[in-house]
Amino acid sequence: MTQEQALDVLVIGAGSGGYIASIRAGQLGLKVACVEANPYADPKGEPRPGGTCLNVGCIPSKALLSSSEEFEKIEKHAAAHGIRVAGATMDVPAMIARKDAIVTKMAQGIEYLFRKNKVAYLKGRANILGRADAGFRVSITRAGSTQEVTARNLVIATGSLPRQLPGIAVDNMDVCDNSGALDWRSVPRRIAIIGAGVIGLELGSVWRRLGSQVTVVEALPQLLPMCDADVGREMLKLLTAQGMDFRFGARVMALERAGDGALKLSYADAGGASQSLACDKLVVAAGRVPTTAGLGLDTVGVRITERGFVDVDEHCRTSVEGVYAIGDVVRGPMLAHKAEDEGVMVMERIAGQAGHVNYDAIPSIIYTSPEIAWVGRTEQALKDAGIEYRAGKFPFTANGRALGNGDTSGFVKVLADKKTDAVLGVHIVSTYASEMIGEATMAIEFRAAAEDIGRISHAHPTLYEAMREASLAAGTGALNL
Ligand code: FAD
Ligand code: AMP
Repeated sequence: MTQEQALDVLVIGAGSGGYIASIRAGQLGLKVACVEANPYADPKGEPRPGGTCLNVGCIPSKALLSSSEEFEKIEKHAAAHGIRVAGATMDVPAMIARKDAIVTKMAQGIEYLFRKNKVAYLKGRANILGRADAGFRVSITRAGSTQEVTARNLVIATGSLPRQLPGIAVDNMDVCDNSGALDWRSVPRRIAIIGAGVIGLELGSVWRRLGSQVTVVEALPQLLPMCDADVGREMLKLLTAQGMDFRFGARVMALERAGDGALKLSYADAGGASQSLACDKLVVAAGRVPTTAGLGLDTVGVRITERGFVDVDEHCRTSVEGVYAIGDVVRGPMLAHKAEDEGVMVMERIAGQAGHVNYDAIPSIIYTSPEIAWVGRTEQALKDAGIEYRAGKFPFTANGRALGNGDTSGFVKVLADKKTDAVLGVHIVSTYASEMIGEATMAIEFRAAAEDIGRISHAHPTLYEAMREASLAAGTGALNL
C-alpha cells in the first residue's frame, strides 16, 4: 500500500474488540483494515478472525457447557420429570466436532461481515515501525513475506494470553490452558484446576458434568471475591454439593509426573503445610495477561502501565494522539462485550462522533450451573463507599417457573440507593441468570428506580419475575414471599 492510499484506521487484532471496531469503522465510511496473526488457524490453515472469544474462549466453552448440560439433564434429572432414559452414553469427539463446527461457521461469518462492510482483512503479524507524515507505518509479516501499510489512526486490539506459572510448563496435552482444556477427546478421571476464577469454574463445570472429579486449587482464601458476598457463599455451597473440591489459600509449589503417568501437583495449604494432589490433567486458569510484546508500541512512545496494560483514558485514547487501545489489552474487565463496546466508541470518536462507554453498566456472567450474573455494585462496595442502600432479595424457591423447571437454586438481589431508590447493583444466581441480567443492565443504564422495576408488568410464569419481586423487596415488600 502506498502513502497516497493511507488508511483512516488500522485495527491490530481481529478478536471481539478488533473485529467489531472494524465493522463499525466500515459502517461509518472510514477506510479501514484489520490485521490478525491468529495462531488458531481455520481448516485451510489461514489465520482465523474472532480472537480468544471465538476460537478458545466464550463460544467454544459455551458450546461444550451446553453439551455437558444436556448430558447431565438426561442422566441425572430426566427421571424427576417422569422420563426414563436408560444407558445414555456420551461421544466426546462428537461434542468437540460440534463445537469446532460452530467456531468455523462464526469465523466465516466475520469474514463475510468484513467483506460486506468493506473492511480489508490482512492476515499476518503486525509490528509498528514508526511514524511518517502520512501516518503510522506498520509492517505485516506472514510466512516470511512482509507488506507495509500506513494509517492515520491505529487501534490496538491485541487481547490477552493465559498467565504462565513458573515451573508449570503448559503442553496443552496433559497440562493445559483454556485452549487445551476445550479439546480433550475423552473425559479425564481426575482434573486439577489452578485458579477458581471465571475460566477455572466454567471449564471445571464442563468436565465435572461429563464425569471428571474436579479439584480447584485457589490462592485466595474465598470463592469469587469480586462477586457480592451472598453470591460467593451460595455458589460455594452449590458447587461443593455438585462434587467440586476446593482448596483455598493454596500456594502452588511444583508439578511432577509420577511413574504411572499421573501428575502430582504440590502446594502449600493455608496453614503453610505441604500438600499434594494427584490428577490426570491439569488446567492452568490463573488469570490472563495483556498482549503487548513484539508489537513495536515503544517505537511511537505508547505508554504501558505497571501491570503491563496499554495506558488509556476513558475514551480508550493512549498517550499518543491517533493511537487507541481497546479490550483485554487495556484496564477493566476482560469481557468480550466490553471490548466490543470500546471498539464502537473508538471508531465513532475517530469519525468525529461522541462515542461513549458506560463502565458502570457492563454486565458480568459466569456460566456455571446455576449461572451467576451481576451488574453494578456489590453490597461490600457500597459499604466501602459509604453509600446508604436498601437490599431486596427473592429466592427462586418461591418462583413458579423455577419449580416447574425443576431447578429452584439461587436468587435475585437488588441494591437500591436509600434516598433516590436508583438501582445500584443487581446480583443473580439462577439457571438463566445470563439472560435475566439484561433487564438489570437496562435499569442501571436508564437510571431506573427499584420501584420502576416493581411497577413494570412482568410476564407470568417466568424466572425474571424474581427481578420484579427482589425490586419490590427493596421497597414496600415482595408480593409472593
Ligand atoms: P482477543 O479476543 O484476545 O483478540 C486479540 C487478537 O489479536 C487475537 O486474535 C490475536 O491473535 C491478535 N493479535 C495479537 N497480537 C497481534 C499482532 N501483533 N498482529 C496481529 N494480530 C495480533 N468473555 C465474555 O464476555 N463472555 C464469556 O463467556 C467469556 N468466556 C471466556 C472463556 C474463556 C475460556 C476465555 C479464555 C475467555 C473468555 N472470555 C469471555 C473473555 C473474552 O474472550 C475476552 O475478553 C475477549 O476475547 C477480548 O477481546 P479482545 O478483542 O480484546 O482480544
Ligand atoms: P480470573 O482472573 O478470573 O481468570 O481468575 C484467576 C484466578 O486464579 C484468581 O482467583 C487468582 O487468585 C487465581 N490464581 C492466580 N495465580 C494462582 C496460583 N499461583 N495458584 C492458585 N491460584 C492462583
